[in-house]
Amino acid sequence: MSARERVDILGVLVDRVDLAGAADRVRRFVEEGRAGGRRGRLVVTPNPEMIEAARHDAGLARLVNQADLAVADGTGVVMASRLLGDPLTGRVAGFDLLLEVFRLADAGGWRVFLLGTYPETVAEAARRVAADHPGLELVGFQDGYFTPDDVPALIERIRAARPDLLVAALGSPKQERWLTEHLPATGAAVGIGVGGSLDVLAGRARRAPAVFQRLHLEWLYRLAREPRRARRILGALPRFAWAVLVRRFRP
Ligand code: UDP
Repeated sequence: MSARERVDILGVLVDRVDLAGAADRVRRFVEEGRAGGRRGRLVVTPNPEMIEAARHDAGLARLVNQADLAVADGTGVVMASRLLGDPLTGRVAGFDLLLEVFRLADAGGWRVFLLGTYPETVAEAARRVAADHPGLELVGFQDGYFTPDDVPALIERIRAARPDLLVAALGSPKQERWLTEHLPATGAAVGIGVGGSLDVLAGRARRAPAVFQRLHLEWLYRLAREPRRARRILGALPRFAWAVLVRRFRP
């Protein structure tokens, strides 16, 4: 595997890879794990909100920086890298990476476990993933609203299913924290945090009308529909942008 090249965005290290390169790394991680090599590889998808959170939370920054692959999930991260003088290749949306990884899983006969979102949603996502990818083995799924008391049994269930890939959609930073703590015990070769991707896969998160898509304003439509999320994201973005500018122009 070629050496990792990472770009420092306000203390968070992001890999300089495109979508194909990122998917290829995941493939190598899975193959290595299946061949008896290292397992428990962590893949994260930092966006401006996650980087902003990590700036104020050294523990979160450390675990993101210890991940085996971190892709720039958001144009804001790519723009920041350019302003800071160390440009990333481009954006690698977590959802696109997940779709690409499912294609590899299909071709390679990987065992996949889905963890997160609501019971009916994860069941529907599992049904669709299995139907669209006959070569992939969907070895289990579990919703993301379990209690700490449920965790030991859950880990045992995941372990018994022997997944190559554990897809965690618990929202950020919960999924990164959960994977850092429990991924080794699950025995999965790779764990990836994918936020709301299972909702989209299951057809639960509605896409914006065509006019919003044409004007590249899909994000605005989504924010307007989810005020709780909007407050979170609109709060973090200006602080992130400001911090990038300060870092760039600081004498
Ligand atoms: N979620 C979950 N368990 C929790 C909290 C959230 O499974 O305890 C799920 C939630 O249902 C949603 C996903 O995490 O499907 C991501 O939520 P959100 O869009 O808020 O996160 P983001 O993608 O912005 O990180």
